[in-house]
Amino acid sequence: MSDDTQNEARHGLRDRVVGTWRHAVDSAKDSVGDLINSVDADLLYDQGDDIADTKAPKVDIAQRWDERKFTAKLVNPANRRKLSVIIVGTGLAGASAAATLGEAGYKVTSFCYQDSPRRAHSIAAQGGINAAKNYRNDGDSVYRLFYDTVKGGDFRARESNVYRLAQVSTNIIDQCVAQGVPFAREYGGLLDNRSFGGVQVSRTFYARGQTGQQLLLGAYQALERQIAAGTVAMHTRHEMLELVVVDGKARGVVVRNMVTGEIETHTADAVVLASGGYGNVFYLSTNAMGCNVTATWRAHRKGAHFANPCYTQIHPTCIPVSGDYQSKLTLMSESLRNDGRIWVPKSGEDKRDPREIPEDERDYYLERIYPAFGNLVPRDIASRAAKNVCDEGRGVGPGGLGVYLDFADAIERLGRKSVEAKYGNLFDMYAQITGENPYETPMRIYPAVHYTMGGLWVDYDLQSSIPGLFVTGEANFSDHGANRLGASALMQGLADGYFVLPNTINDYLASGPFPKVDASDPAVAEAVGSVKGRIDKLLSIKGSRTVDSFHKELGHIMWDYCGMERSEEGLRKAISRIRELKTEFWSDVRVLGTGEGLNQALERAGRVADFIELGELMCIDALHRRESCGGHFRAESQTEDGEALRHDDEYAYVAAWEFAGEGQRPVLHKEPLVYEYVELKQRSYK
Ligand SMILES: Cc1cc2nc3c(=O)[nH]c(=O)nc-3n(C[C@H](O)[C@H](O)[C@H](O)COP(=O)(O)OP(=O)(O)OC[C@H]3O[C@@H](n4cnc5c(N)ncnc54)[C@H](O)[C@@H]3O)c2cc1C
Repeated sequence: MSDDTQNEARHGLRDRVVGTWRHAVDSAKDSVGDLINSVDADLLYDQGDDIADTKAPKVDIAQRWDERKFTAKLVNPANRRKLSVIIVGTGLAGASAAATLGEAGYKVTSFCYQDSPRRAHSIAAQGGINAAKNYRNDGDSVYRLFYDTVKGGDFRARESNVYRLAQVSTNIIDQCVAQGVPFAREYGGLLDNRSFGGVQVSRTFYARGQTGQQLLLGAYQALERQIAAGTVAMHTRHEMLELVVVDGKARGVVVRNMVTGEIETHTADAVVLASGGYGNVFYLSTNAMGCNVTATWRAHRKGAHFANPCYTQIHPTCIPVSGDYQSKLTLMSESLRNDGRIWVPKSGEDKRDPREIPEDERDYYLERIYPAFGNLVPRDIASRAAKNVCDEGRGVGPGGLGVYLDFADAIERLGRKSVEAKYGNLFDMYAQITGENPYETPMRIYPAVHYTMGGLWVDYDLQSSIPGLFVTGEANFSDHGANRLGASALMQGLADGYFVLPNTINDYLASGPFPKVDASDPAVAEAVGSVKGRIDKLLSIKGSRTVDSFHKELGHIMWDYCGMERSEEGLRKAISRIRELKTEFWSDVRVLGTGEGLNQALERAGRVADFIELGELMCIDALHRRESCGGHFRAESQTEDGEALRHDDEYAYVAAWEFAGEGQRPVLHKEPLVYEYVELKQRSYK
């Protein structure tokens, strides 16, 4: 077969597959559209009291972290070995915390569901990690990183936390270099930097397109050292299914041994959740297949407030969906926007090979609309701009859901070798997935779900609304407001695990003694009973639909109505449909096999059941927030030129949701956001 015939055959197949996928989406939309619009926004939740962070000291922002470290109580080394901490998760946030607390002398018990801690999803991170080192002498500073992050998050993040993140960022790089993390270096041997979206400086440290992998290897080695030293007990292939709360304090977890099916209880003096994000609620996302919300959702049901659940990040540079049977999307790192130029043909009728389209017939729309930041605008802005040009009918590739990311100029300017050195593994990945050579023809990209800014509410100490339950990394609602800037998740995970939590958890642990909790405690018996009851229920339904079919349908609803653009009408439909889906799930799901051993259908069923409940809360959160901000774009709230329009007078708060009981309306607690250092403004990247 000639290359052309092969290409035609491949594209023909892709068109058919995308056709099937779109048909499925359309039918899901139709059935949702048929529903009576019965959900009244005001009846969806109850209003609770306002809440506040009480831990950030009331001193100048630059002194707050030092002051908190000083005022936080200490635990003397001889007492630390008598105190125990459970850490769920071994990604960057969990592994760094376990290694550091183990090194400090606490008794740590660590869990992950993978077969090795080093397979946590953090290993997938590609592009880099930010730090305000100002190695480039380009005007960077702690204050600028703080400012960029608050502005990038569309002024919906807590100032104190973000400032601390910027301060600690510089320590992270030193820590990782000392561990031997092989960051990219310049010819002279100094650490190299590149730029990520939403900033005008180069502050991103990287290890080719494998930054997460190299950082996780550093944290994993530190963790393994503590495992060998006996301070950390590691339990792989164990999934946390319930939190144990005794006398109002987090005191343990119920886990399922995923190999034997055994249900085990582990107790401790404090519990840390570092269980990652919940992007897979959308079914298709760039997250690892196993990423789920169960650990944080179970904690939420036990009393931990869930903050800003509707704030999800849609990443602009992902390989477009190619078919209905696809279960995973692939990210093309944001770092590619340093050198790649994004464009679509000026005319939607132009179906020529991109290489044949002359310069003056191309629309480099980001450079045109946002000349100051060009291709490096933040992710929410780049994603919406891609959606807009595709909605105008100018999208490229199968189904018209794609835009070009073109390296022709960069290759001409820097030479192919240099481009290969920076991005080689990403180009290889793209070629293997699409069968196209990105050195010769532009990549095709489209936005996809990537990260969740929402998560469990925490105070400045990273403690949730349940005393003794701390939350780190992507699992907390964190420092990113309504939109996360690139290369800041790795920074936050490692800041939390290496530097913040080890200083703040002492304060809680020093407040002991903690009475011993054993299996006979009624709270433990209740938690174990609820896990076993749920597993039995899932196995007993023996319905007709697979777990995946429910997950996929939920994903379609979430993407259509709580994805890149949300509207009052769409969100109400979504809530109705999700409620129906929940009923259908619990009466018609088919989970084969038993609970006594490896059973991936059972694992997925539990996770999807939690995703369905979370999906409803996400839509309620999105519905109640009648403004656009960052990743939350409300169709009814935009400027004349289509940019997100915030309403600071009404919505400058964190929405922290309390679980009020099965079948009860969630309770909304607002944490007002006070800006003392950054002036609230309409974001502009023009
Ligand atoms: C493809 C991709 C590329 C990215 N690139 C970058 C980048 O270049 N720069 C950047 O800053 N960010 C990047 N991110 C985001 C970043 O990788 C993540 O936000 C970050 O790694 C999350 O780390 P974490 O430690 O919080 O969670 P994770 O790494 O997701 O780890 C979660 C851990 O929790 C465990 N766990 C979860 N639930 C349970 C349970 N119920 N029981 C037991 N264990 C459980 C898992 O086993 C795992 O060990 C990228 C994300 C993706 C998807």
